[in-house]
Amino acid sequence: MLPSIHREQALATTHNLGYPRIGAHRELKFALEKYWRGEASRAELTAVGTELRRRHLASQALLDQVPVGDFSFYDHVLDMSFTLGNVPQRARRPGSDALDEYFRVARGSAAHGDCACAAAGEMTKWFDTNYHYIVPEFSADTAFSLDASRLLSQLEEARQSGVRGRPVIIGPLTYLWLGKARDQSDRLALLPRLLPVYRELLRQLAAAGAEWVQVDEPALVTELDAGWRDACARAYEALGGCGVRLLLTTYFGELRENLPLACALPVDGLHIDAISARAEIAAAVRLLPADRILSLGVINGRNVWKTDLHATLEWLEPLHHLLGERLWLAPSCSLLHVPMDLAGEDRLDADIRYWLAFAVQKLEELQVLAGALNKGRAHVQEALVANNAAIARRRASARVHKPEVQQALRKLDASHARRVSRYAQRREKQAAALKLPLYPTTTIGSFPQTAAIREARRRLRRGDLGDDAYRLLMREEIARCVREQEALGLDVLVHGEAERNDMVEYFGQQLEGCAITEHGWVQSYGSRCVKPPLLYGDVRRPKAMTVDWMVYAQSLTEKPMKGMLTGPVTLLNWSFVRDDQPRAATCRQLALAVRQEVLDLERAGIRIIQIDEAALREGLPLRRSEWREYLRWAVEAFGIAAGGVRDDTQIHTHMCYSEFNDIVDAISALDADVITIETSRSNMELLDAFDSFEYPNAIGPGVYDIHSPNVPGRGQIVARMREAARRIPPARLWVNPDCGLKTRSWEEVRPALKNMVDAARELRGG
Ligand code: GLN
Ligand code: ZN
Repeated sequence: MLPSIHREQALATTHNLGYPRIGAHRELKFALEKYWRGEASRAELTAVGTELRRRHLASQALLDQVPVGDFSFYDHVLDMSFTLGNVPQRARRPGSDALDEYFRVARGSAAHGDCACAAAGEMTKWFDTNYHYIVPEFSADTAFSLDASRLLSQLEEARQSGVRGRPVIIGPLTYLWLGKARDQSDRLALLPRLLPVYRELLRQLAAAGAEWVQVDEPALVTELDAGWRDACARAYEALGGCGVRLLLTTYFGELRENLPLACALPVDGLHIDAISARAEIAAAVRLLPADRILSLGVINGRNVWKTDLHATLEWLEPLHHLLGERLWLAPSCSLLHVPMDLAGEDRLDADIRYWLAFAVQKLEELQVLAGALNKGRAHVQEALVANNAAIARRRASARVHKPEVQQALRKLDASHARRVSRYAQRREKQAAALKLPLYPTTTIGSFPQTAAIREARRRLRRGDLGDDAYRLLMREEIARCVREQEALGLDVLVHGEAERNDMVEYFGQQLEGCAITEHGWVQSYGSRCVKPPLLYGDVRRPKAMTVDWMVYAQSLTEKPMKGMLTGPVTLLNWSFVRDDQPRAATCRQLALAVRQEVLDLERAGIRIIQIDEAALREGLPLRRSEWREYLRWAVEAFGIAAGGVRDDTQIHTHMCYSEFNDIVDAISALDADVITIETSRSNMELLDAFDSFEYPNAIGPGVYDIHSPNVPGRGQIVARMREAARRIPPARLWVNPDCGLKTRSWEEVRPALKNMVDAARELRGG
């Protein structure tokens, strides 16, 4: 029976904040890379863009409002820089057009003598996601000028497809917040210059027929000081009266102390991420003036699980009664952060597939929710029943809940997260066992992933190569890699990671409770995509994952062979994570699995084991007040993974970034015997952080920038290590590259490592 109230009920509007742009088959990636290699014309590239936008509009056509301008050839923040005319001078060349300049900022350009010309814009993480944006560059004399062409033409494109498009822009506050002033000047001082350009942009969009404009202000979910909050109020005072209605969007977290500010801004609507800020919605309803739209992000745009539609409706229905047509519904944030479509995931276990929703499915869920609110639940009953069944099945599944994992975890106490003895004692035992020279040399794990290796993996995937034949080929690669390292004279060898496609997926494939998709790509930056594993249930290691490979590698050399594992925090941070228990709990399960692998390696005679935590920093919460708690459980997870070994087994960890100042305490607490880090570009200055905290253990500051094709000279390496030795006692220094070598060629790697080994000899005084 359909209660009549629903027919009279004012309708809730559906909309979306942004769509994945890389293409269901990564069409944009391949088109870009072809264009960059000079194998495709400009026209071919832009045609792919046009076609993708057409398709993406079509798949959102059921929504009441569809975002436009969310498509990007590289990065939406860089797009905004170009829209605002904030283009670094070094990218400008006579005769080059905007797209040339755009890619020059995004990727840098080949150096021709003047190396400033070559510098790409700095890239950094987009809030707490794994997406990276190009940092806007400011200085005291930055001037802005409008180029609305991209947005205007995409708005027109949408109009021609019969879609009511809503341009998406980054708001002035967040735009300034995301950038960096190269001269340390105050970014906020640029606001008076910036606002007229925004006003003109809004006017032009209005003139072109836009009714609404979506203004993204995710900076509002971070801790803002009085200056920024005040700037926010001033900015939106200034943006009124341009002939368009503004939907101010926030996402990725709670607004907290910024909520009253956001609700008071003179805009026409406010979007709040009701997944991460559900608790604030009641307050928002109270604070928001009665003529404003409240848009609720009710579908998780950051994760891949089906929405519990029943529970969501229970919560939404009273809100809908209260707000009527002032209620808008959307995913929590842009769908940029989830894979595009479940269709095609045929190899995925049917059970797990049944629990998932990617971008396409999320918009379907949104339609169901809106249908239930606007027309009554009965109207979408079938969809609701199916959803209910999926939610119930997942909740009760034995694939999710494994008593033996819970039991094993309960047995862990604080002592499991600690090594037996303190570093000073371990150090002596390890020195006696390993007999390494001063300034020992090593690498970070991977060696070049050659065309032959990738081809073998392709053939294995296609079924053209059997498992045994593949293993044999990989063994040959490992043997070659060991021979090369012996010839170079490195002290601690690695097996080279030939058998691994990716440091997270490789382990994800072998762990129970974790599934790997075929096409679940998510953009990381530019044309780069990642395919995060799905951690769906209690994690268990059914059998050893790396031991055979390592034992084989060790059998080929007298030198110590370093075992190579990805740590629990990195496995967690680079995966989609189950939403039915805290991240910390999932991390502990991963830690236990890694611990078992570590112990198996030790038992098999591996004396040095590296546990990579490349993504430890990435998990830091947006708000500083939450860092402590995150670091507490992250450090504990690493401790569980590493803590079981004997004193004379040496644990390494590796982190490839160069910001440690604010987390040095946590890094010390990891208590790895050796940490290797990225330093070659920062001229060893970052070691100041370790120095001032008197970091007690050994450090390998990277001396070879593996992101560059340049081969570092021996003199350069010696100089860098001498610089390091001014801060850290030489007895605790290692010599190694910044990161793994898998993206480089042997032709680059060989001379670079030879110089590294020669440099170490020189440092030893030999
Ligand atoms: N061991 C990995 C490698 O060498 C580490 C990669 C990383 O830190 N991102 O490739
Ligand atoms: Zn690294």
